[in-house]
Amino acid sequence: MNYRHIFHAGNFADVVKHALMARVLEYLGKKDAPFRVLDTHAGIGVYDLSSEAARRTGEWKDGIGRLMQAKIPDAQRELLAPYLSIVEPMMKASPPMYPGSPLIAQKLLRTQDRLSVIEKHPQDVTRLKAALAGDRRAKALELDGWTAWNAQVPPPEKRGLVLVDPPFEEGDDFARMVAGLVSAYKKWPGGVTLLWYPIKDQVAVNEFHQTLATCGIPRILALEVTVAHPKDDGPLAGTGLIAVNPPHTLLAEAEALLPWLARLLARGPGAGARCGWLAGE
Ligand code: SAM
Repeated sequence: MNYRHIFHAGNFADVVKHALMARVLEYLGKKDAPFRVLDTHAGIGVYDLSSEAARRTGEWKDGIGRLMQAKIPDAQRELLAPYLSIVEPMMKASPPMYPGSPLIAQKLLRTQDRLSVIEKHPQDVTRLKAALAGDRRAKALELDGWTAWNAQVPPPEKRGLVLVDPPFEEGDDFARMVAGLVSAYKKWPGGVTLLWYPIKDQVAVNEFHQTLATCGIPRILALEVTVAHPKDDGPLAGTGLIAVNPPHTLLAEAEALLPWLARLLARGPGAGARCGWLAGE
C-alpha cells in the first residue's frame, strides 16, 4: 500500500482513462433508467496539482497540462466534452485541481444514479469521504476493492459501470483482474467493466490479452495509447483500458479520439493508439 496517486494525478494515463470513462457514463445516461458506478480502487477523489507531491514528478504537465494548452479539433472536442466539462473548470481554479475517477463519476451522475467508491488506504478513505460529502447519491467505503467488486455486483439498478484501477505495485494485478472479472461477470453479465492496465512490459500485456481472449467472456475491447516504446525497466510508456460489454459506440469513439490523444501526449518514437476486440460478439 505504498502507492499514492497524487504523484501521477492528471498524467497521460489519467487523461485517456478518464476521457473514456466519461464516454461510457455519457452513454449510460442516455436512458432514463438509473445506473450504478462501482469504483473498486478509488484514490482520494481530487488532487491538488500545486502540492509538493504533484510538483515533484510534474507528470500532469505532460498529461492534462498538454490537453489544456491544445487546440482541440471539433470532432475530438465533442468526444472529450463530458470529461472537459469537469476538468476544465477545476484546472482553471487556483490552485489547479485534477479530479480522480470518483469525482468524474459523481459529476456525470443524474439524480436517479448511484456511486459506490472503495478504497483500502485508511487516510485516503477519509479524504475520499470529504470529497464526496453531502452527496446522498455517493458512498465511500473502506474495504478491499477486490472483495468488494465481487460482493457488490450486480447492483440493485442492474445497469452500470465497474472501474477496476489497481496500483500494479504487487506484480499480480493482471492475474487478479482476470480472476475478478471471470467471477463478477458470472454474477452480472450485463454490466460494463473497465480494467485499467499499464503498458511497460509488453510480454505481460500480451499474456493478459491472450488470457482475456480465451476466458469465455464475449465483447472485450482493448483500447491503448502509448507515448513511447515500452521498456520493461523504463517509465510508464502506455496506458490500456479493457472494456467488457462496452457501449456499441465506444470502439468508433476511441478510434476517433485515441490517435489524436497519442499524438498530443507523445514523448517520442513509439507513440500511437491501438483499438480492437480481444473477444467479439
Ligand atoms: N481510480 C483512481 C483515479 O482514476 O482517480 C486512481 C486509483 S490509484 C491508481 C489506486 C488506488 O488503489 C490507490 O489509492 C490505493 O490506495 C488503492 N488500493 C490499493 N490496494 C487496494 C485494495 N486492495 N483495495 C482498494 N483500494 C486499494
